[in-house]
Amino acid sequence: TVKIGVLALQGAVSEHVKALEKSGAQAVTVKHPEELSDLDGLVLPGGESTTMRRLMDRSGLFKAVKHFAKSKPVFGTCAGLILMAKQIEGRKGPHLALLDIDVKRNAFGSQVDSFQTTLQIKDVAENFDGIFIRAPYIKSVEDNVQVLSTYEEHIVACRQGRFLACAFHPELAGDSRFHDYFVKMVENEKQ
Ligand code: GLN
Repeated sequence: TVKIGVLALQGAVSEHVKALEKSGAQAVTVKHPEELSDLDGLVLPGGESTTMRRLMDRSGLFKAVKHFAKSKPVFGTCAGLILMAKQIEGRKGPHLALLDIDVKRNAFGSQVDSFQTTLQIKDVAENFDGIFIRAPYIKSVEDNVQVLSTYEEHIVACRQGRFLACAFHPELAGDSRFHDYFVKMVENEKQ
C-alpha cells in the first residue's frame, strides 16, 4: 500500500483521510515538514488559499511541499488547486506553481456561494457528484495539461503528469472514485 498525506493546516481534512483509506491507501495528516519524508503522495485540501499559504510559510511547509512535488504526486482540491496553479487572476505571483493553468478564484460569483451538479470526469466517472463551495475554475490550460472535466464550458478538473487538481470537493461526495484515481497515480509513480 501507499502512504498519502493530507495537508492539515486548515480546511477539509478528515473527509480526505477517510476517502483515501476507502481507496486503499494509508492516510495521515501533515502539519510539519518532517512528516513528508516517508510519504508517497500528498493532498492539498479545500479551505482558504491565502490563509493556507500563510500557514504553510509559517510552518516551513511551503518550501517542503515545493521540494516534495519535485518527485511525488500531489492532488489539490478547490483551495488546493489554487495553491498549485502557475497563474491566479488578480494576484501578482503564484503559490506552489506546479500546474500550467490559469485560475480564477470564487469564480462562480458570490450569489452562488455553493452548488451541486453532476459531472463527467474523464477516466474517473460518468456521473460524479460535484460539490462546489466558493469554488475557483480554470480559465485556461497549456497543451501539456489534460482536461478531465468541464462545467458550463469552464474547466473544473485537470491532470498534468503526477499532478491532479479539481475545483470541487470530491471528499464530500461520499464517492471515492476520484480518490481511487489519485491512489492509482501514486501507486504507478512509486513502482
Ligand atoms: N475560495 C477559496 C479560495 O479562494 C477556495 C474555496 C474552497 O476551497 N472551498 O481559496
